[in-house]
Amino acid sequence: MRKAIIAGNWKMNKTMAETKAMITELAPLVSGADCDVVLCVPFTDLAAAKKAARGTNIKIGAENVHWAEKGAFTGEVSAAMLKELKVDYVIIGHSERRQYFGETDETVNKRVQAALAAKLKPIVCVGETETEREEGLTEKVLEKQLIEGLKGFKSKDFDKIVIAYEPVWAIGTGKTATAKDANETIGYIRKVLAKKFHKSIAEKTRIQYGGSMNTKNCKELMAEEEIDGGLIGGASLKAEDFAFIVNYNK
Ligand code: PEP
Repeated sequence: MRKAIIAGNWKMNKTMAETKAMITELAPLVSGADCDVVLCVPFTDLAAAKKAARGTNIKIGAENVHWAEKGAFTGEVSAAMLKELKVDYVIIGHSERRQYFGETDETVNKRVQAALAAKLKPIVCVGETETEREEGLTEKVLEKQLIEGLKGFKSKDFDKIVIAYEPVWAIGTGKTATAKDANETIGYIRKVLAKKFHKSIAEKTRIQYGGSMNTKNCKELMAEEEIDGGLIGGASLKAEDFAFIVNYNK
């Protein structure tokens, strides 16, 4: 059985002091969670987050990683740098990276390779825009993102890779895919994994839903068979709300 994974994506929010305060408040609220609990935080907060999460069940992730080992890439951070901080997870290919920073399926693939080589667990984001959805292109877009973004990875890599299905039109907008729609689309992602990779990979890979998941809709979304967790933006910034989502089955 696939273990659920609820991950927060803080984006460009919280200072180090705020990180420490939030994790200190959150830790006792999520200590009995049955799922994996992850907070993906800005690079500048990683050390503080690791320190605050020590001895708790909260794992820490970064929000991006570069594919090169080192070199002239101003503003970027390597997998080795994250590994030295003992970071566990890293978000790759978030739609905001694709939209504002030119991320492509090819760069997603290179970043996933670098993350896996450093034994980091990548959370790979895929999802269609509103226009693509309206034009009936959702499946085509997802298939391309999956095939090109995950090209070359073997079965054992999928023990670490988590996929986040995030319809771009639902991120930060308050619009959520219905639980039924999200379940169906994640089912489609599994079909692509089975067809292009292997049936066993489709069965074991954890696939989250992301896009305005919150305290009101998390139970319904998490009750769906294909949905193995959530990638949570806005609602991960308040300890009480994030804890509620983490404890969706209590
Ligand atoms: C996200 O940033 O991955 C996300 C899903 O954001 P929100 O929950 O705010 O829609």
